[in-house]
Amino acid sequence: MIRVDVAVVGGGMVGAALAALLADGGLEVAVIEAHPPRPPAAELDLRVSAIAPASRELLAVLGTWPTLAADACAYTAMEVWDATGRGRTRFDAAEAGVAELGHIVENRAIQHALWQRLEGRANLQRLCPAQVAGLLIARDTAQLELDDGRLVEAALVVGADGARSQIRAWAGLENVGWGYGQKTIVGNLRTSDPHQATCWQRFLPSGPVAFLPLADGRCSLAWHATTAYADHLLGLDDAAFRAELEVASGGALGAIVEVGPRGAFPLRLQHALHYVRPRVALVGDAAHAIHPLAGQGVNLGFRDVRALTEVLLDAVAQDADPGDVDLLRRYERERQPDNGAMLLAMDAFKRGFGTTAAALRWARNLGLDAADRSGPLKRAVMRRAMGLG
Ligand SMILES: Cc1cc2nc3c(=O)[nH]c(=O)nc-3n(C[C@H](O)[C@H](O)[C@H](O)COP(=O)(O)OP(=O)(O)OC[C@H]3O[C@@H](n4cnc5c(N)ncnc54)[C@H](O)[C@@H]3O)c2cc1C
Repeated sequence: MIRVDVAVVGGGMVGAALAALLADGGLEVAVIEAHPPRPPAAELDLRVSAIAPASRELLAVLGTWPTLAADACAYTAMEVWDATGRGRTRFDAAEAGVAELGHIVENRAIQHALWQRLEGRANLQRLCPAQVAGLLIARDTAQLELDDGRLVEAALVVGADGARSQIRAWAGLENVGWGYGQKTIVGNLRTSDPHQATCWQRFLPSGPVAFLPLADGRCSLAWHATTAYADHLLGLDDAAFRAELEVASGGALGAIVEVGPRGAFPLRLQHALHYVRPRVALVGDAAHAIHPLAGQGVNLGFRDVRALTEVLLDAVAQDADPGDVDLLRRYERERQPDNGAMLLAMDAFKRGFGTTAAALRWARNLGLDAADRSGPLKRAVMRRAMGLG
């Protein structure tokens, strides 16, 4: 039997960051991950994230930012416009008084850097590859059963096991949400015009198409489209896909010169009605899954990590039980409204841009133009997106 203070189920970006912070704080930690994290390779992976300054700060505190910075691409502007009207707005780092709005970083590079940070520590056990097969919650402890027969006993189990969290289900933490009937197509591509360290996003009735700048001069594509249209796009060969993308992007960066392999992810909004119960807490996508059009998912997850760490380290300093639900509710009270507000804002944004009704089209174009002209509003939106609000 392995006995720890906190067992983190899922060593993705969020779970690995949490395990590292808790171990730094002196807790006995185990992190259980089904798949060994892959190191970055010569060719960029399809999954990248827009990392907000607040998240970069967390990665810096964890000592991983110097490694990640080498291949990260800082972006200094974000340009958003409506394909069906004249509304257009541009967010500039200079206007917000910061050097950059964020960085585009490979997901696997973040996870791998954090995972390495967990290596060789006396108070942290990495159990990988190992899958959690069951959870038993008793009065004083929670027990995890792994698929290899090992048992892990902890004062607190944290579900960092992603959107399809089994910890959430086993703990009976109810989850609400809906599918968007959309998929996001991702891939790396080269355009004839330079990306200018800018994130470009053009809203179409079928969903937005975004180009995110990469350090090697290419762009990462995030094309959110209705499921039927996405499936059609995924069936196209490179030449046909490039042609259709050129039209969808309105030629924002000229021609699509080269496109690599594509992948796709179905989109859902999900929110757990409670993040905690005695001996269990949820973080990251296990607690909330958001439409990726504004690149907020892992950034919210890292905010959960900060908040839960603070609560747990406070508790331990006062000799309190880290699995005590009254204590864990402090974490829930801090994070649930913040995540809920962002989830609903992105949902409204997605719906507002998805409509073809003339009155709403007119209103959103007016809104984009007004946002572009209103300095304080723009600054407030930027600060919120950067995790500084
Ligand atoms: C197309 C797309 C683009 C996105 N872009 C952005 C962006 O630009 N910026 C941003 O902030 N967010 C973005 N997101 C969201 C972001 O990817 C997620 O919020 C983030 O990956 C969630 O991390 P996580 O660690 O909570 O969960 P996950 O990444 O899902 O990790 C969960 C981990 O748990 C492990 N696991 C699961 N079950 C078990 C088990 N039973 N036993 C052991 N291990 C288990 C899994 O193997 C996995 O490693 C995007 C999402 C999509 C789909």
